[in-house]
Amino acid sequence: MPNAESHTRDRICELGSSLFTRGLTSGSSGNISVRIGDGWLMTPTGVPLGRLDPSRLTRLDGSGKFVGGDPPTKECSLHLAMYAARPREQAIVHLHSTYSTAVSCLDDVDSADVLPPLTAYYVMRVGRLPLVPYFPPGDMGLAEAAGRLAHDSPALLLANHGPIVAAPSLDAAADAIEVLEQTARLFLLLREQKYRALTDEQVRRLS
Ligand code: ZN
Repeated sequence: MPNAESHTRDRICELGSSLFTRGLTSGSSGNISVRIGDGWLMTPTGVPLGRLDPSRLTRLDGSGKFVGGDPPTKECSLHLAMYAARPREQAIVHLHSTYSTAVSCLDDVDSADVLPPLTAYYVMRVGRLPLVPYFPPGDMGLAEAAGRLAHDSPALLLANHGPIVAAPSLDAAADAIEVLEQTARLFLLLREQKYRALTDEQVRRLS
């Protein structure tokens, strides 16, 4: 196995363990994928992110076909649809993290952009957050809807489900989804308060 792939396998498992240990995902929910040369590495189905084995990660070829390791997550099609819409992104992290998932169940949000620009880091790491309509996990309708919305946004919130973020590197995807989760928490804390989001001009100056 080339050194670079071995390093990527270790990084996926380290990140999974870090996310799991800090309660950002629970049970066997959540998944991580990274583009490697001629395909992808992905976390397998049914394994908690805290107990990943680098040698057993799912390997997909360039067409998305399962070619090695443990069987793929049923959310595999969701990842592949986002990569197809965003060919330059190298990694995707998807979580069922509590606060983002809570926001994904709210009835009175703007589905074109769910969270307000509360902090500069949210604007810089996430920017816009469209809501993908609800579909059961693994439903091809979910992958199709996410793929359509991903053309214009690397971060999506799946209704009654959780966030998914694509980025140019695994570290950037992890960073963005953690900022998203923190912002969802802030939003819920502030919802009953009079709060001040960044103005359009303040947002413009960050881009
Ligand atoms: Zn999910």
